[in-house]
Amino acid sequence: MALIELRGIGRSFPSGDQQVAVLKDVNLDIEAGEMVAIVGQSGSGKSTLMNILGCLDKPSQGAYQVAGQDVAAMDDDALATLRREYFGFIFQRYHLLEHLDATGNVEMPAIYAGSPKAERRARAEGLLGRLGLGERSHHRPGQLSGGQQQRVSIARALMNGGEVLLADEPTGALDSQSSAEVLAILKELHQQGQTIIIVTHDMEVAAIAGRIIEIKDGEIVADRRNDSAFEAVSQAGHQEHKEPRWVGLWGRFSEAFKMAGLAMASHRMRTLLTMLGIIIGITAVVSVVAVGQGARQKVIADINAIGTNTIDIYPGANWGDRFANSIQTLVPSDLEALQGQVFVDSATPNVQANAKARFGNVDSTATVRGVSEQYFQVEGMTMAEGQALNRDDIRHLAQVAVIDKNTKKTLFTDGSDPIGQVIILGKVPFKVIGVAEDKDSNFRFDQNLQIYVPYTAVMSRMLSQHYFSSLTVRVADGVSSKLAEEGITRLLTQRHGLKDFFTRSSDSILTAVQKTTSTMTLLISSIAVISLVVGGIGVMNIMLVSVTERTREIGIRMAVGARQADILQQFLIEAVLVCLAGGAIGVLLSLGLGLVASLAGSALPMTFSVASIVGAFVCSTLIGVAFGFLPARSAARLDPIEALARE
Ligand code: ADP
Ligand code: MG
Repeated sequence: MALIELRGIGRSFPSGDQQVAVLKDVNLDIEAGEMVAIVGQSGSGKSTLMNILGCLDKPSQGAYQVAGQDVAAMDDDALATLRREYFGFIFQRYHLLEHLDATGNVEMPAIYAGSPKAERRARAEGLLGRLGLGERSHHRPGQLSGGQQQRVSIARALMNGGEVLLADEPTGALDSQSSAEVLAILKELHQQGQTIIIVTHDMEVAAIAGRIIEIKDGEIVADRRNDSAFEAVSQAGHQEHKEPRWVGLWGRFSEAFKMAGLAMASHRMRTLLTMLGIIIGITAVVSVVAVGQGARQKVIADINAIGTNTIDIYPGANWGDRFANSIQTLVPSDLEALQGQVFVDSATPNVQANAKARFGNVDSTATVRGVSEQYFQVEGMTMAEGQALNRDDIRHLAQVAVIDKNTKKTLFTDGSDPIGQVIILGKVPFKVIGVAEDKDSNFRFDQNLQIYVPYTAVMSRMLSQHYFSSLTVRVADGVSSKLAEEGITRLLTQRHGLKDFFTRSSDSILTAVQKTTSTMTLLISSIAVISLVVGGIGVMNIMLVSVTERTREIGIRMAVGARQADILQQFLIEAVLVCLAGGAIGVLLSLGLGLVASLAGSALPMTFSVASIVGAFVCSTLIGVAFGFLPARSAARLDPIEALARE
């Protein structure tokens, strides 16, 4: 049995409505160890025959067997395996990958065969050394002459130790000196037992072969021995070299990774622009989630700082009730009734006057708050100096005031002790009896000086008003705010004869705030998702362009034995890497935003959670896989011959 057996092989190509037969009834046996030249004029079908021999193309008719295996029965992956194990290709135009150095090009077939890195490196360098390129093993194709490039491609063809070297016009692009070198190498390889098939239109080149087959218009017209050439005896048998499956898989995966990195690095600007959509999307999602979380935490902290559970009581049916101003039913007796309830820890009314506060010749606008003696208990405030209001002050409409630290600083510019001094609020004099400690809470929007005086004094001496603007109740420990709210509503409804007020607990504010922030987060996140989808489509677009641009590269990889899965994997990894890098830049950008915001003392803190960052990376990966799949598949489905023909 011959190594290669062709029986009645025909190959036709569609041309318009007709089929043009390029090969007709070719019968050919080639033994292991032979050196065969296929000669014929240009267009006679030599390359077509060569492609069929090398399993890059399939015949339209006839049977082809390699070492007894029927090629017609094989699928694309089995053909890739056959190419890898039996054949090495040498092309007229070398077909080296520009972005890999000589060693990188030579070891490529071994990557797809799954040999370990160190072993294939050593073998590649050994082969290059044997072919006189030891010095140039780290040069790229662009830095090598034509003859040197062709020697690299011979080394690549020998890499997997395949028996048959297929050389299609190997000297066609070389000067006579380099031609002679390449032919000498082929002859030497033949003498060492390599089966070699050379396609050429040049009889001088053919003369080195021991057997010359002439082909004309797709038919073999002559097949003769050439005794002038030295015929070597075959010694090489087909050698299987298989690695454990996982070693090969891992090697191929990490190589695909490296290739993807190289491809990205060689088009930096394009890669960056491709990532832009992903970067914007991820930055937006991560930042928005962080702002939302920060806002929520801040509100919770503020509400906790206000005290445990407080309930506000306002006149009217709800916020924005236009009759609320005319409701005057929240009165001092309501306050006393509330203070008598078991579920009430403390209670205070709120009446408020804006007035000019003056001390000596300094004055400033102040908010004068009329409160009860329990106000400081309700609000969880303590005194920094002096004392708080007491029950007698309230009862006697005493003209005494507790000021905040801001007031002390503003009015008492010389740093003198304010306690015991008399300040004028509007036209009414008040004696300062205490300075309140600032609260942690930033929940106050009022930048005015804050001055607390007995509500009775404000109502009679400043406002002539007999009702409260609102009441605030602090719920007794251990009582739920819901129960307390119900109790207050029942009590006041009974007292007023109708429900002309509404209540708000800090709990309900909390829920409202949480609801608002999560709605906002959802809203902005959905915008970000749209941007991510747009980014994904951008990635897909660029990947499709890149597949078109790199068609020849894909063809070369397939010729040296890459499976469809290898090509698919390489492009998919590239898409995922682009998206992941975009995601990483996005996360970094939004962390940067957070840092800038906190340095700038922004009122909106950003809180980053591990979950949102992990989510961003998962999201990027999924986008890469989803939008990279289509381009990767179209790359994997390319026909190797067509891909190789593309320039
Ligand atoms: P050679 O290598 O001997 O110069 P080829 O084998 O490349 O010739 O081509 C032989 C003939 O087949 C040519 O006429 C060419 O136009 C035709 N041919 C080759 N490949 C294709 C193809 N994929 N589709 C259509 N015609 C083709
Ligand atoms: Mg040709």
